[in-house]
Amino acid sequence: MIKTKADFLDSHRRMHKRIFMFGEELESYIDHPMVQPSLNAVAMTYELALDPAHAELLTAESSLSGKPINRFTHLHQSTRDLVDKIKMQRLLGQCTACCFQRCVGMDSFNALDVITFQMDQELGSSYNQRFRKYLAQVQGENLVVDGAMTDPKGNRKLSPSQQADPDLHLRIVNEDEQGITIRGAKMHQTGAISAHEILVMPTRSLSDKEKDYAVACAVPADADGIIYVYGRQASDTRKLEGGKIDVGNYHFGGHEALIIFQDVFVPWERVFMSREYQYAGSLVELFAAHHRTSYGGCKPGVGDVLIGAVQAIARIQGTDHASHIQDKLVEMVHLNETLYACGLAASYEGNPSESGTYRIDYLLANITKLNVTRFPYEIARIAQDIAGGLLVTMPSEKDFNHPEVGPLLKKYLVGSHEYPTEWRQRLLRLIENLTIGAGSIGYLVESMHGAGSPMAQRIMLARLANMETKESYALKIAGLSETN
Ligand code: SF4
Ligand code: FE
Repeated sequence: MIKTKADFLDSHRRMHKRIFMFGEELESYIDHPMVQPSLNAVAMTYELALDPAHAELLTAESSLSGKPINRFTHLHQSTRDLVDKIKMQRLLGQCTACCFQRCVGMDSFNALDVITFQMDQELGSSYNQRFRKYLAQVQGENLVVDGAMTDPKGNRKLSPSQQADPDLHLRIVNEDEQGITIRGAKMHQTGAISAHEILVMPTRSLSDKEKDYAVACAVPADADGIIYVYGRQASDTRKLEGGKIDVGNYHFGGHEALIIFQDVFVPWERVFMSREYQYAGSLVELFAAHHRTSYGGCKPGVGDVLIGAVQAIARIQGTDHASHIQDKLVEMVHLNETLYACGLAASYEGNPSESGTYRIDYLLANITKLNVTRFPYEIARIAQDIAGGLLVTMPSEKDFNHPEVGPLLKKYLVGSHEYPTEWRQRLLRLIENLTIGAGSIGYLVESMHGAGSPMAQRIMLARLANMETKESYALKIAGLSETN
């Protein structure tokens, strides 16, 4: 069982993943400076579970084995579990200031448990039993699982079966007594390189013409036929420069990768949906609701770090007493806590499914995510306002270390004299990282598109808002209802 950061890194040393980056296949990824911060961030999900101050939040009693497990592998058994998940995500955001990558797997488990249970009840299949057996192993070994949903999709006007290339949505290309073979790709895969397992799910609702696309299954992350291509991030090569300051967040960072499945074989015991197209849509919706709510935990956690950095830079630059700065800091807090409040509300309003696993409140989950598509951008705008122009004009740390210009930079770029210039340098780089650098991928653009772009939430809201009931309230108050 993986318990410590060392165990986690060792487990990766035993894997043989094919990863491409900058036009080359990596020989080893564990010690690669582009990958290490991501592994460090995931490792915090293990380290905090061992910390007596946080162990209660980071662990749960397994509903499958009764044993203590890492909460990232848990099936939520109560609204308290849903709430604790959000609190755990906020804590990890505060400790890493980046994406710690393990939530997509957790949200996938919780969606798959509910939907496979429903399938079994209605179809007489045994997918749920199979899935739970697999999950018990994940819990027992404390594995990191990448939930893989988003297909490349090609021409958005066309359904999977109408595409010029049928592989633009992942599909079953062969089936025999031993299992199935899948082909296709999954995009934007958060934490793919850090994962031990990939849990494949369909990306959209499907029709009976698209049965081959209705597939959910688990594959070892280094299975034969799997290729990863590492996604670029803004300022990513600063990680290769050897310094510790200009990267902004030296220890931690998230990543995404494109995963290509070139005819990957999956034995039946790892297949949890195979052509039951009528359940694809509800699986996607439940997963999305869980993951949209997750952002009400992790983003406020990262927001706490950004607000803290802005408060500190204001003090160092001597602007902290200005009333408009204080008011802007309050505005950042208001926006940040609103995101958290939404994540908590969606959790408190959760409800039990037939399988016993709790579902999040769909309407409030989508409200959470729609706010997440906006508020971090506003928080980042205020952060840049308070930080000032040096945020984007500051010389490199190598210049600060140069024997001739270094002392001049320290002299002229100082803020308030109680603080060494390096404090200003480090805090501005952190704010830069989170608002326009590598960290902004997780904090901003991922907030926009992760778990579905804003229009996906608006469609759900239009469906779930129950406008007829609202209208009936109004008609009654206005003296217009038939029963009045
Ligand atoms: Fe978790 Fe947030 Fe990263 Fe998604 S973006 S995996 S919710 S930390
Ligand atoms: Fe995400």
